[in-house]
Amino acid sequence: MGLSGVLPWHQATWQQLCRLADTDRMPHALLFSGEHGVGKQRLAEALIERTMCAAPGDQACGHCRSCQLLTSGSHPDLLRISPEEGKRHIRIDTIREVNRFVSQTAQQGGYRVIIISPAEAMNVAASNALLKSLEEPGQQTLFILLADVPSRVLPTIRSRCQQWTLPSVAIDDCLGWLTEQLASEDEARFWWQVSGGLPLSAVELAAPDARALRHQLHDCFEQLVRGGEPVAEAARLDRQAIDAILWYGIAWLEDLIRLGLSGTTASLRNPDLLPLYRQAVKNARVRDWFKLLDYAREQRRLLAVGANPNPQLVLEAWLVRWSALLRS
Ligand SMILES: [Zn+2]
Repeated sequence: MGLSGVLPWHQATWQQLCRLADTDRMPHALLFSGEHGVGKQRLAEALIERTMCAAPGDQACGHCRSCQLLTSGSHPDLLRISPEEGKRHIRIDTIREVNRFVSQTAQQGGYRVIIISPAEAMNVAASNALLKSLEEPGQQTLFILLADVPSRVLPTIRSRCQQWTLPSVAIDDCLGWLTEQLASEDEARFWWQVSGGLPLSAVELAAPDARALRHQLHDCFEQLVRGGEPVAEAARLDRQAIDAILWYGIAWLEDLIRLGLSGTTASLRNPDLLPLYRQAVKNARVRDWFKLLDYAREQRRLLAVGANPNPQLVLEAWLVRWSALLRS
């Protein structure tokens, strides 16, 4: 495991962060937010490495004791906080551990860094327990919080962090990198578009299992347009993939709305679905697509906060609604 390296589309942000560090203006808490797949974690790792490095240049040196400890995953002054395996929330006990860590001195004599990911996973009690440490962390302490959806982080936490929003990425800023990952420029462009400008998501979506799911959903969509039975279709899908299924549903609805409102196909995220879209647009009004979009987003939110424990029911209800619009 080597050092992280800064992703090409984060260069401008990276230079700003370095300038803060090099002029002693680095805040003691940063919140990186942006959609899954934009590369928040990579940016945070590069910053952790440079912050803890004894002899940083543009990036961490890669050779000093700190860099070696980080590379081996055993730096005593770095604390990584995430939900426990199989759990959704970061518990208050875990945050108490953060508070203890912050009250001790750094073992290597440099920075102490605490990374909390995803920050949305802290419930109210855990968030409140963190406030004091966030307010008075002491010298040479850096908190890095990561959030896909920063509005789900408690406002009292957010207001104590300097917020950095990482937007989706233009194709020109990631085409070279994506082409390296996906072996051809055509593939890079296609999956960039499907991902909505999120390069790491593009790579995930292009992986064999994810491709197979997309193919299966495409097929399911086609069956529903032809009058297929939604509960039977639901039975053929993997309910464990419900989040990805809703994610695709949302992307397709957004395409349908673009197509329905403008009639143009230039900005579609899934151009290969155009024949199906044309069929679907004939059958429903844009207003109804918007309603279904709201529904899908809400279901996804409920899944994320653990409020909707039965994925099979969510999947069936979703396909029943899809099909009602597709064949009306
Ligand atoms: Zn170093």
